[in-house]
Amino acid sequence: MGKRIVAGNWKMNNNVEESIELASQLAELVGKEGLGNVTAVVCPTSLSLHAVQQKLAETDVKVGGQNCYTKDSGAYTGEVSASMLKAAGADHVILGHSERREYFEEGDDLLADKVNAVLANGLTPIFCCGETLEQREAGIHFDFVKSQLTNSLFDLSEEQFSKVVIAYEPIWAIGTGVTASSAQAQEMHKLLRDHIATKYGQDTADSTSLLYGGSCKPDNAQELFACPDVDGGLIGGASLKARDFLDIIKSY
Ligand code: PEP
Repeated sequence: MGKRIVAGNWKMNNNVEESIELASQLAELVGKEGLGNVTAVVCPTSLSLHAVQQKLAETDVKVGGQNCYTKDSGAYTGEVSASMLKAAGADHVILGHSERREYFEEGDDLLADKVNAVLANGLTPIFCCGETLEQREAGIHFDFVKSQLTNSLFDLSEEQFSKVVIAYEPIWAIGTGVTASSAQAQEMHKLLRDHIATKYGQDTADSTSLLYGGSCKPDNAQELFACPDVDGGLIGGASLKARDFLDIIKSY
């Protein structure tokens, strides 16, 4: 069982003012109700990250980026580095989200470099993996998702790997309202934990946090989080409402 983590991916939603408002609502609720035994992270746009971190500074809610570049600084117009995210207050960085893979053609090798950049800056990568519906229907989903881990993560040392959080997000469940059943989530998470064990040993595999993502909401979080190999969630749409996000956290 890895550390329990619930992370909110705000995606390209909320300008600075709106982000501050959402962070304020969350800070107020968390101040009253606490987070229980869960590490909570919110990932606003890079533009809002610093202001959100300031708003949440009095709480235990951590802040993360949604992406970063492989280099620390230089002539890479439009990019943001892991060290900049860290300086702005980030603890975590989502990497390899399916939207990055699909719309920005991010592949396994680039993501391996991004994971290295995030780790080199002392931040926690939340590495996303997951199959398309076509891959699942063709029966190649297990091998495909395992290959995403092998190709982007398995060159890490055991010490480096132990700092990585993994989010399994079946693409057919992201933003669609269709959630993987708890049996489907457990099946894939167990397979990934076994795959990690073959490379890094059972202890490291057991302590890796494996999050589920894909239409996770207050009304289905409890069932998903009850799976023995599900250590939390990466939440998209439902993280844009402070009440829903905290209800998901409190499903534990
Ligand atoms: C996501 O994009 O990481 C995600 C899980 O989105 P949603 O919860 O909206 O399906």
